Order: sequence, then structure tokens, then C-alpha cells
Amino acid sequence: MSDPLIPGVNIGLVGHVDHGKTTLVSGLTGQWTDRHSEEIKRGISIRLGYADATFYRCPKCKGADAFTTESICPECGSECEPFRTVSFVDAPGHETLMATMLSGSALMDGAMLVIAANEKCPQPQTKEHLMALELVGIENIVIVQNKIDVVSQEQALAHYKEIKKFVKGTIAENAPVVPVSAQKGINIGALIQALDEYIPVPERDPDDDPIMLIARSFDINKPGCSWRDVKGGVIGGSLTQGVLKEGDDIEIRPGMKVEAENQVRWDPIMTKVTSINAGKNRVTEATPGGLLGVGTKLDPALTKSDALAGQVAGLVGKMPPVWSRMAFKVSLMERVVGSDDEFTIEPLKHKEPLMLSVGTAVTVGVVVNVKKDIVDVVLKRPVCVAVGSRIAISRQVGGRWRLIGMGTLVE
Ligand code: GDP
Ligand code: MG
Repeated sequence: MSDPLIPGVNIGLVGHVDHGKTTLVSGLTGQWTDRHSEEIKRGISIRLGYADATFYRCPKCKGADAFTTESICPECGSECEPFRTVSFVDAPGHETLMATMLSGSALMDGAMLVIAANEKCPQPQTKEHLMALELVGIENIVIVQNKIDVVSQEQALAHYKEIKKFVKGTIAENAPVVPVSAQKGINIGALIQALDEYIPVPERDPDDDPIMLIARSFDINKPGCSWRDVKGGVIGGSLTQGVLKEGDDIEIRPGMKVEAENQVRWDPIMTKVTSINAGKNRVTEATPGGLLGVGTKLDPALTKSDALAGQVAGLVGKMPPVWSRMAFKVSLMERVVGSDDEFTIEPLKHKEPLMLSVGTAVTVGVVVNVKKDIVDVVLKRPVCVAVGSRIAISRQVGGRWRLIGMGTLVE
């Protein structure tokens, strides 16, 4: 049995802006993930919110009433057993932040698609985010029909039918639809029950080399603290495989940009893991699932303000390659979704710039060669990623980056 207080999976929140994702996370975790919202300004930056919730089961209550986020049952007052902890990754819903949503999806084991019951379904980003889940292959989905407190029962039922029609033939066809009010805390037990059933902990091989996708990085020192008390830089993110241990010698790739003799190169950053926080707990080793804060010996100037977001950490010499040019096999969608007018997607063109989401990294690549479904791109910023990985491809359409398809790295 894994520790019920350590997060075992990451669950993403996706869906249209204002449908209640952040309110739902706050209801489930008591934390408000939008605290960095002032910083969420630019499309190509990663500012994901995250927070953990422990789920408890009441020994006396039956059915959905038995599931709660409280250690004392709100229904009957009995003491509840913790059975599982999950991490939520809250992606901003605004359409210009699709890149952030895609970077976040690299960390997700499953997702809640939040759909407000008081608007017609689907809204543009409801569609675009479901498409993204489909493209990146996130199959474990729970649909949350939110804001049921502001609609009548008939409206809720009619809206439910719209949802079912919308997801027919998609990856979410068989996902459960749970009606809730995130704001009023209605039916949260049924939601926890559905999350537990539909987003299980995946099988993981503990012998794999650890690979950590970095989503955030921090300087945790207070301004003006004495040099004697300075703490090393902290990286935040999630392991996709393997076990990371305190004391491990790690490498961060692509690393640091170095300009010398008119040449640009990227040098890996070497450091040591000095501490690991999994959720609220200090641990000596960490496994995939849950968001980690990893203390290092790095100069905090290197990690401040998410400077290392999009990079990858792992054991020295056991990392995927770094690419500044790469080839991938492309499959494009037929139409662009996510805007009011939907455009037909033209084939990729020579010299066209693409926005590529690779793990938590977002980079621009310029097409230098197109041969059938194999495309070569030269990257503005290199990425560290294994052959066979999936890459989300966006193109500028009508002044915005729009998701147009998926690539698989071939070389
Ligand atoms: P996000 O953009 O999807 O993260 O949406 P937010 O969580 O920021 O919520 C958008 C607005 O909807 C806020 O004003 C919330 O208070 C409101 N809201 C969220 N959930 C509910 C709900 O269940 N019922 C009602 N009536 N309002 C809600
Ligand atoms: Mg939000």
C-alpha cells in the first residue's frame, strides 16, 4: 500500500474560463491556486497553480456521502480514514494560455473537464481543451458539470444532454458526468468517488531512471537575508518515472545558455538534491504523482521567477538527449477548434514558425523540411526529450497560437 498522505497522481483542471476550475480546487483543497494570477500575463510562460487534497472515507456513511476531504465526517461527525492524496494542476482557462494548458498536460495522469451548467455546451475552450486531452492521450477523465446551484433541474438535465452529445466519439465519451456546485460545496462526495474510480494510480516501474519535468522554479530566500542563511534554488515539478532521492547528483538540461566566440551553446547544470517536499511533507525519496519541491545547491539567482521552467532534471548521465533541431512525425487535425469561426488546417509550410509544447517546455520551431508526414524543425530554444515523445503543435491563426496537431519525435 502506498502512503495515503503522499500524492500518487496529478489531476489536471481544464475547461473554459470562468467555469469554476480554481473555485473547485479551492473547495477540494482549501487553497487558492490563482495567487500567481498577476504574473499570468504572457502566453508563453508557465504559471500553473497546484494544490494537494487528501480524500477520507467515513466508516459509517454509505455511497457518495462516505467520501470527504475532512478528517471528521461532515454528515455524521465520525472520524474518517484517509485513503488517498492527489495533486491538482490548475491550468488557466483563458484562450491565450493554451500553451500553459498543454505544458500542464505533460504532468497530468488524468483530468477534470469543468463545464458550467449555466452556459451552452461546448464553449470554445471546452472544445479546445478536450481536443488537447485527446491529442496528448489523457484518457482518465471526469467531467464536472459545475454551477448547478444557479440552474433549474430541467436546465441541468438539458445541459447534461448537451455534454453527452458533445463528448460522443471523443476520448471522454465514457467519462462520468458529476453535477456539483464548487462554490456551495454540493455533491463533492460524488466527485471524490468518481475521481477515485476513474483516475487510478498508474503502474510505475521503480527501476526506471528518475525524470523530473520542471514546471516552476523559485528563490525561496527573503529579500535582505544574510548570506549565511541563503538557501539553494528550488525546482518544482513532477516525476514522470523513477525514484528521486535526497543526496542524488542531478543534471538539469538543456541547462544554461552560454554565448562564447559568437556561438551559443547550452551547458547542463549540475547540482545535488538537498531536500524534497512532496505536497506538505518532507520526504527522503519521491516517486511519480504529486508535485515536488526539490531543494538544490544551486545559486538561487538561477532558479528565481521560474527561470528553469520547461527544463528536465535527472541523474547525471542518465538523461534524454537535448535537441536544437528535431524531426517528428506529424498528424494534423482537420480544423482548428477553440474560436468562434473554425478554420480548416492547411499542411505545414516551409519556413513557418510553430509553437511546440514538449513536456513542460514551450519553444518556437521553424520548419526547414517537410517530407510527407515527417517534418524537420530548427528550435529557437533547445529541449530535452526522449525519442518517441509526443509534441503538441500550435500555429498562429488569426493572431493567436492555435493547437493544430501532434507530433512524435523520431530523431
Ligand atoms: P476558472 O476561470 O475556471 O478558474 O473559474 P473560477 O473558479 O475563477 O470561477 C469563475 C467565477 O464563477 C467566480 O466568480 C466563481 O465564484 C464562480 N463560480 C465558481 N463555481 C461556482 C458555482 O458552483 N456556482 C456559482 N454560482 N458560481 C461559481
Ligand atoms: Mg482559474
